[in-house]
Amino acid sequence: MTPLAQLLCERIREDGPITVADYMAECLLHPVHGYYTTREPFGAAGDFTTAPEISQMFGELLGLALAQAWLDQGAPSPFTLAELGPGRGTLMADALRATRAVPGFHAAAQVVLVEASPRLRDVQARTLAPHQPLWLDGVEDLPDCPTFLVANEFLDALPIRQFLLSPEGWRERLVGLADGALAFGLSAPLPQVPDTPAFRTARPGDLVEHSAPAQSAVAAALVPILRFGGLALFIDYGGWRSRGDTLQALCQHAFDDPLAHPGQADLTAHVDFEPLAALAPAQAYDTQGAVLRRLGIEARADRLARGLASPALDNHLAALGRLTGPQEMGSLFKMLALTRAGAPLPPGFAP
Ligand code: SAH
Repeated sequence: MTPLAQLLCERIREDGPITVADYMAECLLHPVHGYYTTREPFGAAGDFTTAPEISQMFGELLGLALAQAWLDQGAPSPFTLAELGPGRGTLMADALRATRAVPGFHAAAQVVLVEASPRLRDVQARTLAPHQPLWLDGVEDLPDCPTFLVANEFLDALPIRQFLLSPEGWRERLVGLADGALAFGLSAPLPQVPDTPAFRTARPGDLVEHSAPAQSAVAAALVPILRFGGLALFIDYGGWRSRGDTLQALCQHAFDDPLAHPGQADLTAHVDFEPLAALAPAQAYDTQGAVLRRLGIEARADRLARGLASPALDNHLAALGRLTGPQEMGSLFKMLALTRAGAPLPPGFAP
């Protein structure tokens, strides 16, 4: 049993079962045993690889898309160039390198990073030192300024609650104890559940997930955007009105039982983009593959391929396939752009 599993078992023995959201929050961000607090999750030696770690093209194209959106909105100065959950800072570093030639963009930008893990803040500080980033604890601390924001695989790390429509009504899936070990169970029927389309259209037997922290994070990101202008780009795996249990644990690039290694495995859930999109007056939504292709990833890949020989060339072409291929991240991952009414849609999204 992991040290965090022992602590959680004690807590449940004393206070009763906890929600899946409480369980996720403890596993990811417990100050001593949390996954992001203690681990280097990314890359071959870690537990998973994210798009910016697969290829520099990802951050470059998203950086250029944000810069184009900034130009389309009249190049406001100063403005906030923000990232939520920047990991190793790779996406932001690639975005900044790609946008060096955009006149006035760097001079007007204050780079702002929302990051909960002190250890990852250190890594980001090393990657992004020349740009003098400002770190914030929460999205609600974003400055009063036009805000151009990106968040890759941030929302999937925010805790979800799970609800099952049983014959007696909605019940919540809880983490309790069975034979002294962590085990899933169900609450008594609930008087009330969140009021979103997924709940309103559910049928008996459906499991519906809801992330209040994701709703709050997106709402908070929209506060400066709706007041001062800008754009938010959220990239994640998930869908539109998704159904079913998507809580997943990854440990050393393999799926794990979500209750087996609390604190030592990454825990995520698919993002339901529908209730998040509803928070903004203007939105665009598409698959990652479609948006990256419209942003010109194939031309950029050709350009980079010219300087490469095998095996670097093979890796580069494989990376293009992983980011855009329909069987890989191209379809599973979605991009949601949110802005204010009347603002032009960002490049990469179909009109
Ligand atoms: N965007 C990066 C990392 C994704 S992993 C990439 O694509 O490689 C999720 C990131 O979100 C990590 O940096 C993690 O520490 C951060 N994070 C998780 N929960 C958070 C929270 N509640 N507040 C702020 N940051 C959080």
